[in-house]
Amino acid sequence: MSKSSLKVVVRVALPVPLGQLFDYLATENETVPRPGMRVLVNFGHRKMVGVIVEISDKSNLPFEKLASVIAYPDGEQTVLSSETLALLKWCWRYYKHAPGEVVFSALPPLLRKIDGVIPPPSLQYRLTTAGEDRLGEAPGRIKAQFRLLEEMREGPVTQLQLRPVSSAWRKTLSRLLEQKWVFSEAQTAAELNPVPGPALLDEQRDAVTAISKTLGGFHCHLLDGITGSGKTEVYLCLLEHVLKQGGQALLLVPEIGLTPQLLKRFKRRLGFEPVVTHSGLSEGQRLKAWTMAKNGLARLVIGTRSALFLPMPQLQLIILDEEHDASFKQQDGFRYSSRDVAVKRAAGLGVPVVLGTATPSLETFNNAATDRYSWHRLRQRATGASEPRWRVLDLIQQTMTGGISATAMKAIGETLARGEQALVFLNRRGYAPVILCHECGWHAACQRCDANMTWHKATRRLLCHHCDSSARVPVMCPECGADALQGAGEGTEQLEQMLGKAFPETPLLRFDRDTVRKKGEFDRLSEQVKTGEPCLLVGTQMLAKGHHFPQVTLVVIVNLDQALYSADFRALERMGQLMVQVAGRAGRDKLAGEVMLQTHYPQHESLLRLLSSGYEAFASDISEDRRAACLPPHSYQALLRSDAHNKEEVRAFLNQAKQCFPTGDAMVYGPFPAMMERRSGRTRWYLLVQAARRLTLHRQLDQWVLQLPKVPSARKVRWAVDVDPQDY
Ligand code: ADP
Ligand code: ZN
Ligand code: ZN
Repeated sequence: MSKSSLKVVVRVALPVPLGQLFDYLATENETVPRPGMRVLVNFGHRKMVGVIVEISDKSNLPFEKLASVIAYPDGEQTVLSSETLALLKWCWRYYKHAPGEVVFSALPPLLRKIDGVIPPPSLQYRLTTAGEDRLGEAPGRIKAQFRLLEEMREGPVTQLQLRPVSSAWRKTLSRLLEQKWVFSEAQTAAELNPVPGPALLDEQRDAVTAISKTLGGFHCHLLDGITGSGKTEVYLCLLEHVLKQGGQALLLVPEIGLTPQLLKRFKRRLGFEPVVTHSGLSEGQRLKAWTMAKNGLARLVIGTRSALFLPMPQLQLIILDEEHDASFKQQDGFRYSSRDVAVKRAAGLGVPVVLGTATPSLETFNNAATDRYSWHRLRQRATGASEPRWRVLDLIQQTMTGGISATAMKAIGETLARGEQALVFLNRRGYAPVILCHECGWHAACQRCDANMTWHKATRRLLCHHCDSSARVPVMCPECGADALQGAGEGTEQLEQMLGKAFPETPLLRFDRDTVRKKGEFDRLSEQVKTGEPCLLVGTQMLAKGHHFPQVTLVVIVNLDQALYSADFRALERMGQLMVQVAGRAGRDKLAGEVMLQTHYPQHESLLRLLSSGYEAFASDISEDRRAACLPPHSYQALLRSDAHNKEEVRAFLNQAKQCFPTGDAMVYGPFPAMMERRSGRTRWYLLVQAARRLTLHRQLDQWVLQLPKVPSARKVRWAVDVDPQDY
């Protein structure tokens, strides 16, 4: 046998934007390479971390040309299980994205680095019999040591728990270990210690029973429950069930849904601290969460989008809360839908997945309507509160003050006079969405985007909400020099000012990205709302999600008309979701609520349908409209997006790309300018690919993506494929 035939080839994923894996020769030392292990290799002139995806005895390159692995930084430990690797492989094929970037998105940031290491198993500390005896006596002169012993009275504790006891805890602890009053052992998972929840309503119980029956196998569930119907309570029952059996569970929430309130509720009910992870944590914290998930110490992980790829060897249940939320779709780089990948992961693992929402996305709605998913409806509010009443205010007939109609103003006044709370919703922050000159018609537009600059009066700035460009507010018109600049339209800042003047006695809380910048600020504001004292809330969609404000009995939706006639076919769906979510804040407790919708189109068919028959009927209607128009979810789409400083280059690239689109049932359309053609100084266009069947779409896309890098102007522009796009 020749020497080379004994060689082991490792196929490595490297974090580079290239559509391939890279072959290296395994080093001939003790370490046996396996898929999922990290390696250190030379790539070009750089040393890089990679992850082994496959092992082979062959390569497309001659062995002499292959470089060897430099090192295995984690020994034989893997960072990705075969389960996760298979999922990631599916992802890069399905989303047509560079394998290395997909694989690396599943690693905690520290392990993407050369000097990152997998932390050793965490320890916990427990009393010995001698330690227990000592604790039985008086503290005497060893006060510091005694304090640590006391921490261990109820059971083992971790370093994390000892740290706050004293600044010298480390030294004190080693004294205790020396004296054999305490010993260390590998940390064990926190004990489940659930307190009983409320007796479930029939609908809740039916959902829990049906979903529990599917544990141990793959099954998709839509938990379609109106706000306040007790969806979270259903999750808790399911989680308790899974955790009792020793399983792990994963709960994915939208970016804004991960609040201390939610965590407190889970901790209180389950009796232990869930592990939390999201992109706002430090790299160290994320690595810690990853490690705990991997070694099973994390029984329950609650996290945003990126938590989906955590290693969880005993994962038995995946829940996605607010499945319709746009933040589950990654909008740049590796563009994936964490909802869809969650379903895929559940399928691969053979476990159930629960998608919870009050307003299902049409994709999920369609899957439930065609029986691919089980559909569990919760239509009763668990607290016994009735659903809010809708009232449509025709703006043509109303006198307006700063965006609010006289009728709505009166209702706000009455609500506050009754000692209740009112919420005014407007999805636009700042003082005014545009500033213009009444002499010559000049208006402040962003130089880098097709957008107006928003006037932020308090900070005296003009801000572009799309690229963060900012400028001072001019005093005189820069065009004609007239002293005639005025804002047009309203933002939350203006509403706050206007309402503050109209109701000077009432505390006013504004919730938007300008007022809620710091972590914890949202909770501080919502705590104030929860005291139940009369107050006025003004805010953007930040207010639409998950929060229970029992004393809010009036919601005023200032304006959503834009969505009614938008060029984006999903605008109507999103408007319906937002309306129902915002309305869901009203009258959650014993008090009945009212929602006032201000609109110029009170006769709009979909609006009427939503208000008279509810979200399910509304969704069913727009789903039929989309079927007639062959739009998703009744067809499948992908985009080839491209952008560059030069518009002609973008168009040239897309036209060339269109030429090489393979023939078949999937059709390619365009090039079209993006909804916002210019953004951050770059011009953005796209080609749309659409097919009636997913399979045909992918078959042609797979051929196409091999051709795209060879398109003559591919190097002059940025381009990316977006499968199942959500925006255009
Ligand atoms: P959702 O997640 O659907 O908005 P939650 O689970 O947060 O609903 O429930 C809304 C409120 O109703 C919470 O205060 C919750 O404690 C309460 N609740 C839920 N289920 C019940 C029940 N079966 N009996 C009494 N109260 C309940
Ligand atoms: Zn002017
Ligand atoms: Zn801009």
